[in-house]
Amino acid sequence: LVVMRDVNKHFGDLHVLQDINLEVDKGEVVILIGPSGSGKSTLCRTINRLETFESGSISIDGKELPEEGKELAALRADVGMVFQSFNLFAHKTILENVTLGPIKVRGTKKADAEKRARELLDRVGIGHQAEKYPAQLSGGQQQRVAIARSLAMDPKVMLFDEPTSALDPEMINEVLDVMVELAKSGMTMIVVTHEMGFARKAANRVVFLSDGQIVEQATPEEFFTNPTSDRAKDFLGKIL
Ligand code: ATP
Ligand code: MG
Repeated sequence: LVVMRDVNKHFGDLHVLQDINLEVDKGEVVILIGPSGSGKSTLCRTINRLETFESGSISIDGKELPEEGKELAALRADVGMVFQSFNLFAHKTILENVTLGPIKVRGTKKADAEKRARELLDRVGIGHQAEKYPAQLSGGQQQRVAIARSLAMDPKVMLFDEPTSALDPEMINEVLDVMVELAKSGMTMIVVTHEMGFARKAANRVVFLSDGQIVEQATPEEFFTNPTSDRAKDFLGKIL
C-alpha cells in the first residue's frame, strides 16, 4: 500500500534519509524506532510530502506522489497523520474539529459528516464530549479526538509520530488502547513509538532507523529479544 523506493533527502549537509526502501502492505502495522535524530519524523513527513525529497519515489495505493496541486491534496487526504502535539482547532468544538475535513475536503454533507463524527467519537470514547472545546479536555482525550479527526477522512493509511510522548503517564494507555483497536480493525499503520507494549500487542514489524538508514527489520519479538545489528543492540541497551 505504501511503497518507498530509494528515497534520499538532505537537510543541507545532513543526509537525513539514505536510500530508504520500505513497503507497507494493506492492514500491516509497522513500528518505526530509532535514536533521536535518526530521521523517523522526517520519514513520516516525507510520506505525505510535508517534506520534499531529492530522489527516489513514494507511492500510496499504487499512485505515485505528485509534487503539488489538486492530486497531492487528494493523496494527502488518504494519509492520516497524528502528531505528538494534537493540533486541534482551539476555537472549534470537538464535533466541528472532526467534521471540518470531510465537509471542506471531501465535500460531505454536514448532517452526514456529523453522524459519522459522532460514531468515531464514540469509538474513541469521547462521544459524550462532542460539544466541548479542546481546552476542556485532557491531553489523552484531545489525542483521541485527533485520531477520530484523521479517521473521519477515511484514510488508507495512518501515520503516528510519537502520539503518546507528550502525555502524562496515566493517559498513555487510553490512547494506545484506541490504536490497538484500530490496528485490530485492519487499518494500515506506520507508528513512531518507543512503547514496546504497543509494539508487542499490535505490530507486525519493527523497522529500526539509525542515521537516516534502515538498519534492521524484524518482528517485535525478534527485534526486542534478539537484535542483530550493533546499532540496534546499542539503542535497545539505552531504552530498555
Ligand atoms: P526524535 O526521536 O528526536 O523525534 P527523529 O528520528 O524524528 O528524532 P528527525 O526529526 O526526523 O529525527 O530529524 C532527523 C535529523 O534531521 C536531525 O538531525 C534533525 O536535526 C534534522 N532536521 C529535522 N528537521 C530539519 C529541518 N527542517 N531543517 C534542518 N534539519 C532538520
Ligand atoms: Mg521525531
